[in-house]
Amino acid sequence: MGSTPLLAPRHQAEADGLSVLCRAERYRCTAERGTRRFHSAARRGQAAAALEDPFQRLVDELFWFHPQDGGDAGPPSPLSGSSPTKVAKSVSTWLNQEDGKDPLPTHNLAVFHHLMAIEVEQRLTQEISQGGADGLVHALRQESDYCWRHALARWRWLSEHSGFRNWLGARAEAIGADVIDENARNDFARRLPVAILAFNARLALSAAIGCSTEDARRHRELMREAGFTAAAIEEAVRVAVEPLMRRIRERLETFRDEINRTNKAALVGPTRGLIDEVTPALEALDRLLPNDDGPLTDLHEMLAETANIAQVAGSKETGDLAFAVDVLTRIERHARSATLKKTLARNIQITRCFFCKMRPGSTGCAVPVGLYKITAVNPTRKGVSYSKSAIQVPRCQECQNAHRSGKGKTAGGMNILPASKASESVLVTEEYPNGWKLGSEPSDFEVQQAIQQDISSLLGQLSRRGPRT
Ligand SMILES: [Zn+2]
Repeated sequence: MGSTPLLAPRHQAEADGLSVLCRAERYRCTAERGTRRFHSAARRGQAAAALEDPFQRLVDELFWFHPQDGGDAGPPSPLSGSSPTKVAKSVSTWLNQEDGKDPLPTHNLAVFHHLMAIEVEQRLTQEISQGGADGLVHALRQESDYCWRHALARWRWLSEHSGFRNWLGARAEAIGADVIDENARNDFARRLPVAILAFNARLALSAAIGCSTEDARRHRELMREAGFTAAAIEEAVRVAVEPLMRRIRERLETFRDEINRTNKAALVGPTRGLIDEVTPALEALDRLLPNDDGPLTDLHEMLAETANIAQVAGSKETGDLAFAVDVLTRIERHARSATLKKTLARNIQITRCFFCKMRPGSTGCAVPVGLYKITAVNPTRKGVSYSKSAIQVPRCQECQNAHRSGKGKTAGGMNILPASKASESVLVTEEYPNGWKLGSEPSDFEVQQAIQQDISSLLGQLSRRGPRT
């Protein structure tokens, strides 16, 4: 049942999600440090291929700095080879030109802050993974927030600005009017907020996977406060989480198919492996999505359901209740439907020691609880017929030893129930509504009562029929 890991290492997840920005980031690195990063033939080939694809070219251009003469987009970065002083000068020029009408200086500033944010974010990730000092991590978060706020506020303005949409349309036409038609252009403009927010959504997911609740929260908050619509934010998050959700679903489906085909006795390891692998992925999604998210709810339920099927099949074959209890206690909180919750609760009752509620039940240690049920009344012979049954309430070896020693209040250092409480197990009480009672046989009083009731109901039936008039 081997498969590729669900959660790729953090840096890889980021690289996958941020391919466009990584490219842009490389342009910027080139610009700022005056070093050429595209020196290898392979990378030149990749960049050239990207430029030949009109859509990719348009996406790439979104992250280029653009000259204001309205001409063709310049090289990837007009800052290429610039010193920090020159970079600061360009930024200050754009700030002066930003007048709330011309979209280009605002676009250049959005790109600049976006790329800065990515760089700070990478530094932050690095510091966190290396256990960097709290003060530095805090400062990097503040710096990153500052850059994101400046970038996102501008992207939102641009996405609503007809001048920018016109400019984007003109660029699309220049790049490939035959491929990017008007519909595609409109769609591109409409989805711009989602495309921009998807970066933060991916970073939020990446942080959630790395158990950094604080950074997941930061990115959600940044998206929200930038003023994009709730629908755009939701779609961006959906775009970011979809690949992981799909991998989880496929993993669970494959495992479920395997259960039927595989040797049931060999399910122990793979079932534990499945839970080990899927649980952290679901927990990451829990940190990001609302509690009532439909697809996530389905995945939780699917994990609990699948692992339960494997647990039942495996423990039935081997009698390994320790395995059953281990699986059940780990998947219990993932069940979402009332039916599955009830099934799992009952499976735990059947497999876990009722007295310590901790260790699995041991073979041969169960406490039998006798039940009887009156099945028929025979008034003429002044008696009743009844059935008998014995419920086996699971008990572990330690609790059995404690009960037998007469000092049955603790076992293995913990408080336990006395053996006499076995009748309180749900395995016993769930039989009461079906007419079963505790004990080995009905008392004389019960027999008399049953006969009395039988006669009353017989008389009732006769009087309801009544004499015909
Ligand atoms: Zn026990």
